[in-house]
Amino acid sequence: MRWLSFDLDGTLADWPFRQLLRPHMQALLTQPSIRQALRAEYQRRVELGDPLLIYDWGDIHRAVQEKLGLPAVFPNISRLLSEAVFENGMVYSDVQAGLAACRAQGYRIAVATNGLAKYQRILVDKLGIPYDLMLAPDISLALKPDPAFWNPIQSSTSRAIVHVGDLLSQDIWGANSAGLTAVWIWRNMPEAWRAVPALERTRHPGLASVVESRVQSELEEHGFVGRTRPQTPPQPDYIVADLKELLEVLT
Ligand SMILES: [Mg+2]
Repeated sequence: MRWLSFDLDGTLADWPFRQLLRPHMQALLTQPSIRQALRAEYQRRVELGDPLLIYDWGDIHRAVQEKLGLPAVFPNISRLLSEAVFENGMVYSDVQAGLAACRAQGYRIAVATNGLAKYQRILVDKLGIPYDLMLAPDISLALKPDPAFWNPIQSSTSRAIVHVGDLLSQDIWGANSAGLTAVWIWRNMPEAWRAVPALERTRHPGLASVVESRVQSELEEHGFVGRTRPQTPPQPDYIVADLKELLEVLT
């Protein structure tokens, strides 16, 4: 059995959960006390390292509301999810054909997200993304880049696992530490890099500095959410701009 696991946000779709909440959060986030309390609560959870708590935005909102003594200002996430309607364009344009081609080649598809399955499953279904299995913190009891994240598909019957994702600090470090083939999907790849043949990008002399600065900015934005931080930089086996290039490097 061959598995392809795909990160969701920034890989298959344009951050649907964040976009769903954004209009309901914008005014709240202009209030420094709320913005800072949300950030502090998130960071507290990253430090605690409990994979079930870090990305539980409903529970983060509850905790901040209690801490600041606010009325019910935060959106009702369950209701937003059940009422969500997505426009075309939320799923990247190469995804449906790309996933169909991967399946035609015999791959099983896992959606592998650090967002909680209790939120993401509803969105992935509404977005019409076909998959065989979801990997998420409330399923694996681990977060990328912890190698245990992929345990549900690491079995004696799985021959090879390829993981595809946009975040070096979660997807690529994770795939490296779990011994998977690591594919970095660099969706806003600059033209100069697109001109380099996909199979040659990992040997490009400019790669080390790109990886270093991206890891730095990812860690500033998301923090490091694994249990132990790798000592070496993330090392993609392939670098692709989209699923079309993914199919080229896999075949
Ligand atoms: Mg992502």
